Amino acid sequence: MSGAEFVFGSKPIDIDSGSGVTLTDDEGNDYLDFGASYACAPLGHSHPDVTDAVAEQAAELTYVQGSYPVDVRTSLYDRVAALAPGDCERAWLANSGTEANEAALKFARHATGRSKIVATMQAFHGRTMGALAATWKDEYKEGFGPLAGDVEFVPYGDFESMTDAVDEETAAVIVEPIQGEGGVNPAPEGYLGHVRDVTDEAGAAFIADEIQTGVGRTGDLWAVEGAGVTPDIVTAAKGIANGLPMGVTMVREWIAADAGNHGSTFSGGPVPCAAANATLETLVAEDLPGNAADVGASFRESLDALADETGAIRDVRGRGLMVGVEVKTGANPVIGQLAMNHGILALPAGRTVVRFLPPLTVTEEHTAQVVEALRDVL
Ligand SMILES: *Cc1c(COP(=O)(O)O)cnc(C)c1O
Repeated sequence: MSGAEFVFGSKPIDIDSGSGVTLTDDEGNDYLDFGASYACAPLGHSHPDVTDAVAEQAAELTYVQGSYPVDVRTSLYDRVAALAPGDCERAWLANSGTEANEAALKFARHATGRSKIVATMQAFHGRTMGALAATWKDEYKEGFGPLAGDVEFVPYGDFESMTDAVDEETAAVIVEPIQGEGGVNPAPEGYLGHVRDVTDEAGAAFIADEIQTGVGRTGDLWAVEGAGVTPDIVTAAKGIANGLPMGVTMVREWIAADAGNHGSTFSGGPVPCAAANATLETLVAEDLPGNAADVGASFRESLDALADETGAIRDVRGRGLMVGVEVKTGANPVIGQLAMNHGILALPAGRTVVRFLPPLTVTEEHTAQVVEALRDVL
């Protein structure tokens, strides 16, 4: 039962090293990483600020149990409080996205004293039992039940079914501001505000899963800020420590005040905390969300033009540098040709969507290279 291949299957490219937007394989071939390895490298690969912070922290103190306060963790809590969306200033540190959501669901149940969760069709929230219960795809759930029960799924973006589903028994609504894995589906205008209204009315918690949209990817530090909405709980992970395992559950005071008993041995470990501090510091200092907004907008414009030109693209969607290209053929053959013939790495989002989540440091030269390659493939 061990070994990555057992779970992932094997990929034909052996990556040896990474620097900035580039990954290099064992034969010395370079690839432009436009998947950013599942959005986990917002600063680009092996960024010196993060590498130095990790090396220094590992040499000084690699681990100490969480009950002893250490500066590097305290300063990350302070930094998260300062950068958190709205007043979601209290935080819990975990080691992954699914754990951040697991904590979010537990906190919401405890703080409301209710159990029902409302989630959306096509949602992806992770693979542990609670987060998996709120994930849509049956393929991920088959043979693992019973899961953490009491989840009602509503069509993503449908205002009325959200109104109908949320009631006095609802602990939480969990929503991605843009569905990632489900096909790069942005919430329609006003939808997140509507979720805010119905959860307020029912006394339920609004959980925004920003594990893919957060940390600057959509052009704002948090996508909910772009939408002008403050949820009760916001989760982040993936890029927050530029590739080290880190998840964050940011909550408002009313959740923190009645969150129940939760814990984890590696919560806020010094080395991932050092990586997260360095990542957030550089991301903000270099205004990488601003770069994501600018380069993302011109990238999508070029892709729209390519759609008109080739007729092979059904839709171009997303915000900032979270971009989905729905192709008329399957996504996987396109992704395979981009990698093999053009040295460009992308991700699928369902069967027909090619997903781009590049480092937030990319330039218009990089995106032009991707558009040229796509023109050739399509
Ligand atoms: C990747 C992802 C998760 C799960 O994160 P892991 O670190 O893989 O557990 C949850 N929600 C969203 C939106 C994601 O993109």
